[in-house]
Amino acid sequence: TKRAGRNGYNFFEPSMNANAHQQLQWLQDLRVALERNQFRLVYQPKFSFSDDTVLGAEALLRWQHPQRGLVGPDEFIGLAERSGLIIPIGAWVLEEACRQMHEWLSLGYAHWKIAVNLSPVQFADPHLLDVVRAALEKHQLPPSCLTLEVTESTAMSNTEQSLATLQQIADLGVEISIDDFGTGYSSLLYLKRLPANELKIDRGFVRDLSEGTEDAAIVSAIVALGRTLNLRIVAEGVETEGQQQFLHAVGCDALQGYLMGRPMAPDLFLQTMREQPDG
Ligand code: C2E
Ligand code: CA
Ligand code: CA
Ligand code: CA
Repeated sequence: TKRAGRNGYNFFEPSMNANAHQQLQWLQDLRVALERNQFRLVYQPKFSFSDDTVLGAEALLRWQHPQRGLVGPDEFIGLAERSGLIIPIGAWVLEEACRQMHEWLSLGYAHWKIAVNLSPVQFADPHLLDVVRAALEKHQLPPSCLTLEVTESTAMSNTEQSLATLQQIADLGVEISIDDFGTGYSSLLYLKRLPANELKIDRGFVRDLSEGTEDAAIVSAIVALGRTLNLRIVAEGVETEGQQQFLHAVGCDALQGYLMGRPMAPDLFLQTMREQPDG
C-alpha cells in the first residue's frame, strides 16, 4: 500500500486504497476542521404536492477544506464514522441546524421543519437524546420543528433497540423520517410499529421512473404502503418533469430534487424561498 501511495494517490484521498498514513492525515484534517469551523450546512427544500408550498429543508453537510475546496459528505462521513468523530461532527450539525431553524422561525417561517441526517453511529450513541435535547434548548426551538432522518437499514438493525430509540425521539416531539426507503428489508410488521412520520423513497427508484417499469411498480407500492401506515411520502432525487408527473399521479405527498431546488447555502436558500408563491 505504501507503493500505491507513492504512485500518485492524492494526499487527501480517503478511498479504500488510501494507505494508513493518508488516512491518518485525513483524520487529523477532520479534527482540525471541527476546531476551525470548516464545516458548513447547505439546505435543500422539500415541497408539498398538495398546495405547492415549502415544507422546509434538509440540512446537508459540507466541508470547506482550505486546500481542496468544498468536500461532499460521501468523501468523509465514512472515516468520521470509523473514527468516532461523527459524534462531535453530528452534534455540531444538530446545533447549527437548530440555530438556522430558529432564525427562519424569527423571520416568520413558522410552518417549516428542518431535517437532519443521523449516522448509524449517532443513532447507537446512548447520549443521542441529550444531544438532541441540548440543541433544541440552546436555540429554544420547538421540537416539532425538527425532523431526524434515519435510513431504513439503520432503523432496521437491532430492531428492539432501534424501536426504543425511535420511540424516545418521538416522545421528545421530534419527527422521524425513514430515509433511503426501499433499500432495506423492513417487514410490514416492523414498519407498522415504527413511530415514524415520513418515508423517503430512495433516489435509486426515482431515477428511471417511467410508466410500466419495475421501479414505477415499486414506487406505487411504497406510496400505497405509506398511505396505509399514515406516513408522509417524500420522493428524493427528482430531476425531470416526467418523474414529477408520475409521482404526482401515484399520490406522493412531497418532493425533493434538483428539479425543484438544489442544496443551497443559507443566503441563497432564503432568497430562493422568498421567490416562492408562499414565500
Ligand atoms: P441523503 O440523505 O440520501 O441525501 C440526498 C443526497 O442526494 C444529497 O447528497 C443531495 O445533495 C443529493 N440530491 C438531492 N437531490 C438530488 C437530485 O435531484 N439528483 C441527484 N443526483 N442527487 C440529489 P449529499 O449532500 O452529497 O449527501 C450524501 C449523503 O451524505 C446523504 O444522503 C447522507 O446520507 C449523508 N449526509 C449528508 N449530510 C449529513 C450529515 O449532516 N450527517 C450525516 N450523518 N450524514 C450526512
Ligand atoms: Ca437524507
Ligand atoms: Ca436519501
Ligand atoms: Ca442516500
